[in-house]
This record gives sequence, structure tokens and C-alpha cells, in this order.
Amino acid sequence: GADLEARGSRLVLRRGPAAAVLPAVVEESGAGALYWNRCYDPESVARDKGIKAAAAEAGLDAKSFNGLLLAEPWEVQTKEGGFYKVYSPFWRSLAKDYRHRTPQPAPKRLPPPPALESDRLEDWALYDGRPDWAAAFPERWTPGEAGARERLERFLEDSLARYKAERDRPDLEGTSRLSPHLRFGEISPRQVWQAVRERLDRDGSAQAGADKFLAELGWREFSYHLLHHLEDLATRPLRREFEDFPWRDDAEALAAWQRGRTGYPIVDAGMRELWSSGWMHNRVRMIAASFLVKDLLLPWQCGEAWFWDTLLDADPANNTVSWQWVAGCGADAAPYFRIFNPVLQGERFDPEGAYVRHWLPELGGLPDKLLHKPWEADAETLKRAGLRLGLDYPKPIVEHGAARRRALAAFEAVKREHAA
Ligand code: FAD
Repeated sequence: GADLEARGSRLVLRRGPAAAVLPAVVEESGAGALYWNRCYDPESVARDKGIKAAAAEAGLDAKSFNGLLLAEPWEVQTKEGGFYKVYSPFWRSLAKDYRHRTPQPAPKRLPPPPALESDRLEDWALYDGRPDWAAAFPERWTPGEAGARERLERFLEDSLARYKAERDRPDLEGTSRLSPHLRFGEISPRQVWQAVRERLDRDGSAQAGADKFLAELGWREFSYHLLHHLEDLATRPLRREFEDFPWRDDAEALAAWQRGRTGYPIVDAGMRELWSSGWMHNRVRMIAASFLVKDLLLPWQCGEAWFWDTLLDADPANNTVSWQWVAGCGADAAPYFRIFNPVLQGERFDPEGAYVRHWLPELGGLPDKLLHKPWEADAETLKRAGLRLGLDYPKPIVEHGAARRRALAAFEAVKREHAA
């Protein structure tokens, strides 16, 4: 709002179904054209089609633009004119063509709008704070364009050069944490790309970090590319044989995972980070998701739904594609039989246990080498750490070795059935 006012304009708030609210605003304002930035999930696409059809009937000039992605999801094509199902050639093709584009700057002045009435945001009572599950959010997030810009600049200065080495470490602030800002269009990937280029022009030493970072934006593009071409991606496994996978139905195990009470510290730390901050480090998302799908043998759609409800960056393309990738049923997926060992993953990526200690303070007194496997601590060590296993912190709800064998057997059965 303030940014619009600084340019001579004003933000007008209205709410309701677009098909009802927009014609009213057009009528009141005498507008001759409708312009907006489009979204790419199936529901938004359907809504926008409706708006365009109604606008055309009313003789309005209706145009939508791309502010959300580097390239249109339909623009990138294989040599045969189809769409990509593998990430690397997709990204090579997009990055090559994208290189020379630069985003338009915001206009300096905007003409003042006619005297339209605006709702007051407070009157919408969008959030009553009971329970106040967002209490800790302001410590981490400043919503809006200025907050996004500041986050990007800090990342470019402090972390870009080390991104390649540190992006997998949840105990360090090695990634940009731009995902909620990108999700809600507070900053565009084109602005991010441009800022990275300018940073490199000043100092080329961050080249490797920059390549890796832009390639992650590439995964976002790839996810939208897939969602555009495969509309039922959110619910149906891309590899159809997974529709017959013998998933378990276990509400108790699902609740333990959601609450961060599986007994595996790296999984639980991640799930608690998610609950209290609305975000989880990418490496830990992979570990926690793998645990749900493989160790607990619960359907990836349950995990996708929980992430959708709790992530600030919950994204219709990234969330779905990432879950399918972890579950082994997606495009270019990690093979199902590659099953993360939550202890080894924890030891490798949170080597001093700082991340686990932060989110699970009840484990704080354990020595580093037992932090990712508290069940191996003897009675004396537990006592010294002030930890009553099974009371203060749960014992593992499954034994990883046995769970791994169970998952592999289920996978083999599906493969056999499918081959037959
Ligand atoms: P950085 O490492 O700084 O990356 C920069 C940007 O690139 C991110 O902000 C994001 O927009 C994009 N990006 C990075 N990694 C990926 C990826 N693997 N796939 C797609 N885009 C990526 N990301 C979401 O934005 N929304 C989701 O709902 C989401 N759900 C996920 C679910 C699972 C199971 C997994 C394994 C990953 C998921 N991701 C999701 C991808 C990734 O974890 C986050 O984008 C990343 O952790 C955001 O942190 P960052 O901004 O610091 O990332």
C-alpha cells in the first residue's frame, strides 16, 4: 500500500469470487482494461479463463502477465516439441535462453485511481490469533516487498559465496530463505536472477555458489513446468505403478510424525521447526519426508497435505513435485530404494548437533556422538543428561533397519506385480 502511495496511487481492497467482484470494480471505476499477474496452478488458471471470457464479453481489454516465473511453463520444449520429464536438460535449455532478459523496473509514477471505496483489512478478521500458532513467525519473517529485498541482499552478501558448501547444513544459515517471499510474489525470480548477476559483476568469486543457487530456482521452474503439463500431479503419482503401492493406514504414526515425536532427532527437530516457524530446511524436508514415506510406509499425499497446511512457502508446484520426488514416484525421482538413514543423515549434516539441540532442547545434555541416536545412551549417560527416554523424549517408533526392509519388500512386490 505504502509503495503504491509513494507513486501517487492507492491500494483498493475488495473480497469475494473474482467473477462477482471484478465486474463491480470495473463498473464503478469505468475501467477499460484489466491487467494482472497470473498464477499457474490449475484452479487459478480456470479462474483466470473465466475472467478473460467475461471481460471479452464486456468489451474489456484483459491481459495477464508472468511475474511468478523466469519462463512460461509451456515455453521450454524438448527438440521434439514435448515437455521435459528430466530436470537437467530442462534447466540447461531454460538458462541458455533466459540469460539476456532483464526485468522491467517498477514505474516511478502511477496515475491516481478514481474514488473507489476500499474495505479495511482489519474488518476482514482473517486471523483471530486463537491459538496463536504464528507467535514466533515475526522473529523470522518480514512479509512484503521490502522484507524480501532485504533478505535477498543479506543472502547475497553473507552466504552466496558459501552456498554450494553450506546449503545442506540445517545448523547454518546457508540458504536464502526466500521461499515464502517467492511464493507470494513479494519478489520475482527475475529480480533474484538479476541481483545475482549484478553481484557477480562486482565480484566473480561467488560463481560456483551462484550457479548452484540459480539451479535451485531452476527446480522451481521445473516444478511449474510439470504442473502445467500434468494437472493431476497433486494427487496422482507420476509413475502410475505407485497407485497400487501398499501404503499403511496408521493415524498414530502420522500424528507422531506431525508432532515431531518419532524418536529420531533430526526428523523431530525438522517437524518442530516447521510447526513453530512455518519453514523447514531443505535437507531436513528430504529426511523427514523420506521417513514418512519409507520408514512409516504412509502415503506421500498425507505428508504433502501436512506441509501444505503448515509451510509458509506451501507451493502448489514445489510441494507436490518434491513429495513425489522423495517418494520415488515422480519425474526424475530419487529411486525408491534409496532410503535415507536418519541417524547417518543427522550426523553428516548436523555434525555438532546444533540444529537438533535448538529444536529439541530436552536432548541438549547428551554428548554430540549420541545426539542423533539417544536410544544408544546408557543409563548413566541419560541420567547425567537429565533425560528420561520414553518420557521427556520418545523412543524410536520404528526400528530403522526393519522399517527399511519392510519398505523395500513393499516396493519389490509392486514392481513384480507391475511387471506381470
Ligand atoms: P534456497 O536454497 O535459498 O533456494 C532458493 C529458491 O529456490 C527457494 O526459495 C525456492 O523457491 C527454490 N527452490 C529451492 N529448492 C527447491 C526445490 N527442491 N524444489 C523447488 N524449488 C526449490 N519449496 C517451496 O517453495 N514450497 C514448498 O511447498 C516446498 N515443499 C517441499 C516439500 C518437500 C518434501 C521437499 C523435499 C522440498 C520442498 N520444497 C518446497 C523445496 C525446498 O525445500 C524449499 O524451496 C527450500 O527449502 C526453501 O528455502 P530457501 O528459500 O532458503 O531455499
